[in-house]
Amino acid sequence: MTIERWKVGEFRLTKIEETSGWTPLEFLLDVLPAATLGEIEAVDWLTPTYLRDGEMNTLVNSFLLETPTHKLVIDTGVGNGKKRMAPGFDRLDTDFLERFEKLCPRDQVDGVIFTHLHMDHVGWNTMLEDGRWQPTFPNARYCFVREEYEHWKAFALDPLAPGAYSEFGYSLVDAVAVFEDSLAPIEQAGLITWVEPGQEVVPGVTLISTAGHTPGHVAVLIEDAGESAVITGDLLHTQVQIARPDWSAEMDTDPEVAALTRKDFVERFADTPTLVIGTHFGAPAAGYIARDGSTYKLLPTPG
Ligand SMILES: [Zn+2]
Repeated sequence: MTIERWKVGEFRLTKIEETSGWTPLEFLLDVLPAATLGEIEAVDWLTPTYLRDGEMNTLVNSFLLETPTHKLVIDTGVGNGKKRMAPGFDRLDTDFLERFEKLCPRDQVDGVIFTHLHMDHVGWNTMLEDGRWQPTFPNARYCFVREEYEHWKAFALDPLAPGAYSEFGYSLVDAVAVFEDSLAPIEQAGLITWVEPGQEVVPGVTLISTAGHTPGHVAVLIEDAGESAVITGDLLHTQVQIARPDWSAEMDTDPEVAALTRKDFVERFADTPTLVIGTHFGAPAAGYIARDGSTYKLLPTPG
């Protein structure tokens, strides 16, 4: 497992991988239905850093952000013991929490921020204790974008809602089970703080509205002392979407809006000093976006 760390001004940002390894391109072709193998392989800057031997350097990351005043978690992965439809995520048993607590005991976390509330971003919200799903970070405020939470709460109560997805897409969303074991217990524990896209959640940490993958999706902009970094969430599932922002994912709630959002995002950060960090990018998970002819590329920057 690779740990990467970055300094953003006085802030310290640490990436903790939940899963390791590379993802077969066959899986990514299912995730990105508009993509073809030939088109992916034609994006020459991917090889070998991000694409090697038919596999892409993507996985599940969580982040710890330490500011002078706060200890924040950004996205909480898949979690342990969660019953999930997708075989690769079903009842995981990793040492994520042990590795996390070497950096920061879980009772010292005072806030949890989410790019969105999908299965692989909310799993460690809770852990099984005494036969019940209980908050992993008992002293934290869980900052939910209200529109995002309300969407998935309504979804969980609507038996027809999963029908909006393909079978494969829904296996990766699994929203009814996710709501029951990873979201509802946080509401029941009274630990939600409502936030909105555009809001500065704590000094130097701002949620950028990037809807499309989900209705309340945000990227997380971190700024201090003239330096900046942005965590993408799933507006970019994989590095190749920087070159092909038109490729939306099977799980995007609104693929057309997602494509426009992705294009706006890469344009906004291209050729700027803001470090772009992918929630699903393997090491190096950070880089700078640069213009590349009529499109864009990622210049990898190891942490
Ligand atoms: Zn994800």
